[in-house]
Amino acid sequence: MPIQLALNNMKQSQLFSKTRRHSPKDETAKNAELLIRAGFIHKEMAGVYSYLPLGLRVLNKIEGIIREEMNALGGQEISMTALQEKEIWEKTNRWDDSLLDNWFKTKLKNQTELGLATTHEEPLTRILLEYVNSYRDLPLYIYQFQTKFRNELRSKSGILRGREFLMKDLYSFSRDEKEHQDFYEKSKKSYFKIFERLGLGEKTFITFSSGGSFSKYSHEFQTLTEAGEDTIYLDEKTGIAINKEVYSDDVIENLKLEKSNLKELKAIEVGNIFSLGTKFSEGLGLNFKNEEGKDVPVIMGSYGIGLGRVMGAVVEVLSDEKGLLWPASIAPFEAHLIIVDSKDGEIRAEADSFYEKLSKKFEVLYDDRDLRAGEKFADAELIGIPYSLIISKKTESEGKIEVKERKSGKSVLVEKNKVLSEGFSKLF
Ligand code: ATP
Ligand code: MG
Repeated sequence: MPIQLALNNMKQSQLFSKTRRHSPKDETAKNAELLIRAGFIHKEMAGVYSYLPLGLRVLNKIEGIIREEMNALGGQEISMTALQEKEIWEKTNRWDDSLLDNWFKTKLKNQTELGLATTHEEPLTRILLEYVNSYRDLPLYIYQFQTKFRNELRSKSGILRGREFLMKDLYSFSRDEKEHQDFYEKSKKSYFKIFERLGLGEKTFITFSSGGSFSKYSHEFQTLTEAGEDTIYLDEKTGIAINKEVYSDDVIENLKLEKSNLKELKAIEVGNIFSLGTKFSEGLGLNFKNEEGKDVPVIMGSYGIGLGRVMGAVVEVLSDEKGLLWPASIAPFEAHLIIVDSKDGEIRAEADSFYEKLSKKFEVLYDDRDLRAGEKFADAELIGIPYSLIISKKTESEGKIEVKERKSGKSVLVEKNKVLSEGFSKLF
């Protein structure tokens, strides 16, 4: 068995982050407001957020799902540096601020200029100069979860648009156009699966957007939400959408869609896939000897997903007037155990012992605090763990436990042993 990296359970009395009634005055995005109030994130400044224990658990789960799917695609995980050399960016003509306008740049003591990673095509291509020589060394699919820095002009969308944010970026290195296209199609399927697993399946659509100079289109994965900064035109029958930047009669016809079926909607780009052709391999000299012994440039693609943006999109799409509402797959804990009447020694002993047993099988947040029941329930609704398990004098007198589903607000009384052996997700 692999080692378990996450802490599996936690007592709420020991959790340093607390729920708050208000979020900072300058915070206008619903996602950040709720996440700050529930103690998942902390706002450092506009567009810059720290992740607190609950928020980090969600982020790590999002990462875990994406990692599984990237590995299933044949991806190899690495971790590149955030500090980047100017020279490699000059080779691809992307260093100048007039060409890439959201750079954060810095300097060494000796005045050498450096960039803080906005993306990683250049450094990864340079790494591969040392390892790719022949057609036998390809194809390669290499990915990472890494911090990106972008000096975004506006940062009013909470964690949907950070100036510092975590991205999964995968880069493909193929021998020819067909090999590239095959992988590109596989990556689409993989992305649909990822967004499904992240709880965004119903609201996320593939969108045709501008392809740069190498292919007619690139593809974005757009999640419908009023908080989104993009406008897409969606054909609900086929699930295909067109991004506003390429929306035209020509494109509609080209994609065999009907203008009258297209609905204008607000959406947020949660991921994208891009054919890069040979721009970077030619710029940095990444060639390989093909089977005929001829030197040719590698064909590249890039495939991004913003983890914080996904988390923010889940909040925008799924939360309700009571607070956050996590899909089970990325909830910070599977269950929120809540003790009511905690000052009663017998009830507390019972709840403590149930927590010990429960946390051997499930990830549990145990609200062991001596607070009024109403306050604890309101906190649980704000935090949004899918199931609450409530122990009180009343439930104890019946020898049972109350299981409440966050989404429907419904609750049932169940034998404790049944919860321990069968869980709670099948009760609703
Ligand atoms: P946008 O058009 O929204 O600025 P982008 O085209 O710049 O996005 P990419 O550079 O392709 O995006 O980055 C890949 C993914 O990283 C995006 O699909 C998105 O999920 C995420 N992302 C991009 N910019 C940000 C940001 N400022 N904050 C959080 N996530 C981001
Ligand atoms: Mg951008």
